Amino acid sequence: MTRPVLQLEDLRVYYGTRQGDVKAADGVNLTLSKGERFGLVGESGSGKTTTALAILRMIKPPGKIAGGRITLDGDVDILKLSDEEMRMTRLSRIAMIPQGAMNSLNPVVRVKDQMILTMRTHGEPGNDHQILQRVEELLDSVGLQPNVADLYPHELSGGMKQRVCIALAISMSPQVILADEPTSALDVVVQRRIMQTLRTLQEKLGAAVILVGHDMGLMAQFVDRLGVMYGGKLVEVGTVEEIFNDPKHPYTQLLISSIPSLDRKRDFQGIPGMPLSLHNPPTGCLFHPRCPHVMEHCSTQEPIEITFDSGRTALCLLYNEAHIDKEIADGSTA
Ligand code: SF4
Repeated sequence: MTRPVLQLEDLRVYYGTRQGDVKAADGVNLTLSKGERFGLVGESGSGKTTTALAILRMIKPPGKIAGGRITLDGDVDILKLSDEEMRMTRLSRIAMIPQGAMNSLNPVVRVKDQMILTMRTHGEPGNDHQILQRVEELLDSVGLQPNVADLYPHELSGGMKQRVCIALAISMSPQVILADEPTSALDVVVQRRIMQTLRTLQEKLGAAVILVGHDMGLMAQFVDRLGVMYGGKLVEVGTVEEIFNDPKHPYTQLLISSIPSLDRKRDFQGIPGMPLSLHNPPTGCLFHPRCPHVMEHCSTQEPIEITFDSGRTALCLLYNEAHIDKEIADGSTA
């Protein structure tokens, strides 16, 4: 088995509030292989962006990484790097296309100046002329003309700005690209083209991608595996086929059934109940107040992660029960 390019073990990110710690990411485990495309989905506040930011150690106070381990390429312990080592790791080994990336460019600084400054800050070698040449190559690789380098971001369309952000993200050939809702503000045609560009470049680089978002259709087209987050926890992980054809967790089942379909005519089905408040989370399974399959002990007992034969996982007592029954039947439980 090849060693994972990125591994999260029991990652916990808490935000301190007057009412106590809010657990924005709580025990996240994730293994990413070289070149893999992984999707992180969930509703707002589920912890997906927090998880992505934690990988880059970009959680700002009052947030903090409260525990766990993040390992890059098998042996780099991200949480133990010095600030300087972390700065050099960002962009060159792990890059991010941030949420609202289009607004992350300074509108009054020319594209080339922003790209050169960013690349230099993160350790790109070479003189100005060499880096400028690299900027033009990068712009070309994302389908932009070299003259875009001389323009200001306010002169570019949303799609062009997004392409500049992708060019920056791949500028130092990172092993991992974190893309946080990279196309959310674009129309579907531009969105599709941008995702095709990202995919082509990611495959060329052999980089792994974590795509963060809530658009299940986009996920289905782009990623190999999906992780579903709820209340700061990864409640289900599996291949796209597994998740779409046979979702295990009741929350995933509701997410899938709420996707509109042209083939099937039916009433829209939403997810019942109110979104979770992490300030005042329920006891037991965090999803129990909304779960159609809730059992008596779901409100008192926290589910533990179950790994199925195929390697997919789910965090639900329905399967804890089945697992325990199987163990008893196999004679492996006293
Ligand atoms: Fe529903 Fe219980 Fe599973 Fe939670 S543990 S998702 S409440 S069945």
